[in-house]
Amino acid sequence: MSRTVIETIPILPFGMVNSFLIAFEGKAILIDTGLPQSEPKILKALKKHSLVWSDVNAIVLTHAHIDHAGSAVAIKSLTSAPIIAHEMEIPYCQGERPTLNATGLFGRLFYKTGAILEPFPYFRPDVPIAQPKLNLSEYGFPMCTLHFTPGHTPGSLSVLFDDGRVIAGDLAASGILLGGIAFRKRPKRPPFEESAALVATSLEQLLALGARKFYIGHGGPLGAKTIDTHVHALRKISPLPG
Ligand SMILES: [Zn+2]
Ligand SMILES: [Zn+2]
Repeated sequence: MSRTVIETIPILPFGMVNSFLIAFEGKAILIDTGLPQSEPKILKALKKHSLVWSDVNAIVLTHAHIDHAGSAVAIKSLTSAPIIAHEMEIPYCQGERPTLNATGLFGRLFYKTGAILEPFPYFRPDVPIAQPKLNLSEYGFPMCTLHFTPGHTPGSLSVLFDDGRVIAGDLAASGILLGGIAFRKRPKRPPFEESAALVATSLEQLLALGARKFYIGHGGPLGAKTIDTHVHALRKISPLPG
């Protein structure tokens, strides 16, 4: 049986902002839609796998920050595919100002640019997820399961493959600044994180489920050992209670 392809879509170069196309037997699911006006980059990835817009069966959002949900409305109109997001993420999908706890100097400077708070076309997810996990077999991908992995935002989702690959949104990042040219293998926190403790718990949960290769929104991919190191660093910032 052919392996599911994970195609990284460079929304910005050098891994600064990534979306992902997963493709299997002529069908596709888009994981995150990038900043507004990312349609040409997504189309390029589809063409690379001889796919067209109508082959996209679903649009999954790891979360609803502008760099992940900015083109959701445009892609939905091109594909007619449903937008899948966690119900806890609905306020952000509808334009509520996200909680932005900067994790360091870059986050504070980035916040000042205002880019993260720019408006984008808002929407209501067609498939709001309330359960802790959902198999994507209904969309043609029986080897992929959505997991509720909160922390970066309240409704963050990850897509776990049977073979240990996982698309984990902004649960971790790597590189300098946003993604970046250097240090792509070195884990770090993304510029903003709502709860370091919840992120650590979500990453531990994915590791326990067998996640071995983490594809992320900024930088990456990162191996399980690197993620484990990152979890330990997060626990130092935010120890388990008790
Ligand atoms: Zn984010
Ligand atoms: Zn992001």
